[in-house]
Amino acid sequence: MPTPSSTSRNSPHIAVIGGGPAGFFAAITARRANPHCRVTIFEKSARVLGKVKISGGGRCNITHDSPDPRELATHYPRGHRELIGPFTRFGATDTMAWFTARGVPLRTYPDGCLFPASNDSQSVMDCLTSAARQAGITVRTRSGVNAAAREGYRFRLTVADGKTLTADRVLLATGGKASHGACGQEYRPTGAYALAAALGHAIITPVPSLFTFTVKDPLLEGLAGIVVDPVSVRATGVIGLQPESGPLLITHWGLSGPAVLQLSAWGARAFYEVGYRFPIAVDWVPGLKAGGMDQALAELAAANTSKQLKTFGPWNLSRRLWVRLVERAGLDPARRWGDLGPRQRTTLARILKGCELQVTGQSAFKEEFVACGGVPLKEVDMRTMQSRLTPGLFFAGEVLDIDGVTGGFNFQACWTTGHLAGLAMAAG
Ligand SMILES: Cc1cc2nc3c(=O)[nH]c(=O)nc-3n(C[C@H](O)[C@H](O)[C@H](O)COP(=O)(O)OP(=O)(O)OC[C@H]3O[C@@H](n4cnc5c(N)ncnc54)[C@H](O)[C@@H]3O)c2cc1C
Repeated sequence: MPTPSSTSRNSPHIAVIGGGPAGFFAAITARRANPHCRVTIFEKSARVLGKVKISGGGRCNITHDSPDPRELATHYPRGHRELIGPFTRFGATDTMAWFTARGVPLRTYPDGCLFPASNDSQSVMDCLTSAARQAGITVRTRSGVNAAAREGYRFRLTVADGKTLTADRVLLATGGKASHGACGQEYRPTGAYALAAALGHAIITPVPSLFTFTVKDPLLEGLAGIVVDPVSVRATGVIGLQPESGPLLITHWGLSGPAVLQLSAWGARAFYEVGYRFPIAVDWVPGLKAGGMDQALAELAAANTSKQLKTFGPWNLSRRLWVRLVERAGLDPARRWGDLGPRQRTTLARILKGCELQVTGQSAFKEEFVACGGVPLKEVDMRTMQSRLTPGLFFAGEVLDIDGVTGGFNFQACWTTGHLAGLAMAAG
C-alpha cells in the first residue's frame, strides 16, 4: 500500500472505474467501512448498471443457493481454486443477507437460482443506487476514464472530457469484453484492459464464454425447438475436458441449452484456439451405461417385435429425433423391432451413446456471454483484490480472469470481489 500524505490518510479518495455491479458493491462497502473516504464512481456510458438491467431476461439471477464456498467455487471454469478463500469471506449467504436487509426479498428456485421476489432487475438496481446515494458516493456518468498512471503514491486519471484528477486508490471494475481477433494474432489490450496494462498488468486474451454451438447437420434439420433432457455432451478432441450433462435444445442453427452452455464455458479457451471448429459426441441416453445399451435394445426388440422402429421411440426421445437417429444408424425406420440383428443393434447403440456432430462456430446465448480472460489472478492478492504489482490498484468483477457458468455465479463473483476490494480500499 502506498504511503499516503496526511490529507489523503484522513480522507483518501477512492476512484472506482466502472459503474457496474462490481464497482457499485465495492464503492458502497468502502464508504460504509470508512465514512471518511471520498468515493467516486466513473461510468463511461449514460447509465449505470446496464448489464444488471438486462440480466436474467430482465429478472436478474442475483446469486445461487450454494452456501458452501468450496461447492460454490466449482461453478467457475476460471477462478475455481482462487475463489474458495474469497467465498469464505463473502459468499452466497452473505449476498442473500445483504440484499434482504436492504429491502430486496429473494426467491430461490428449484434449480438453486436466486432472483428478486419482484422478478424485476430494477429492484436490484434501485437497491444499489439508493445504497450508494445513502452512503454519499458521487456517481459520474458519461465519464469514461481514458488513461491512468502512477504519480508518486497516487494515481492520475484522465477522464473523457480531458480533465485530469488524482486518487489515492483506484478500483478497475470495468467488466469484460471479448476480443474478436483470431487465435494466434497478437492481442493488444484495448479499452479498459489497456488501463490495466498501462498500470503494469498482463492481460489474458479475453474470449467469449457461455455460447451456443453452430452445427449444420442433416440430423438436426427441421428439429428446432426439441428439448432432450438429459443428454451428455463431450468435446471429443479436447483432452481433460469433462462431458457436461443436462437439457439440450435443438435450435435453428445448432445446439443450445444448459449442457451446451456449460461445455462452452469449461472449454471456452480450447474452443477459441481451434477457431470454434471441433467435434462433439452426444450421448442421448446418459442414464444407461454404454455396455448396457445393446442389452436394453435387445429387450425392447423382444417386447415390441411387430412394431416398426419409427412408431415406437424409446426413452422419451422425441419421435422425430428418434427416426433421425435410426436413419443415422443406416436403418430403415419402417423396419420392425423384431428384425433388428446384433450388428444393427450395435450400430444403433453407438449412435445413441456417442452421436458425432461437428461444431463449426459459436454464437451468443440470448446475447448473454461472459468474457473469460482479463487480468491474471496470480497478479492479484485474492484476500484484498489489490494488485501485486501496483500498490493502491484494485480489481473487481469480470475484468479479472474469472467467469462462472449460468445460474447467478457471475454476479456472485462481482459481489465477492467488490466486497473484498471495498474493505481493503477503505482500510489503512
Ligand atoms: C444479457 C446478459 C445477461 C446476464 N445475466 C446474468 C444473470 O442473470 N446472472 C449473472 O450472474 N450474470 C449474468 N450476466 C453476466 C453479468 O452481467 C456480468 O458478469 C456482470 O455484469 C459483470 O459485472 P462487472 O461490474 O464486472 O462489469 P459490467 O457489468 O460490465 O460493468 C462495467 C461497467 O464499466 C463501464 N466501463 C468500462 N470501461 C470504462 C472506462 N474506461 N471508464 C468508465 N467506465 C467504464 C461499463 O460501461 C460498464 O457499465 C449476464 C450478462 C449478459 C450480457
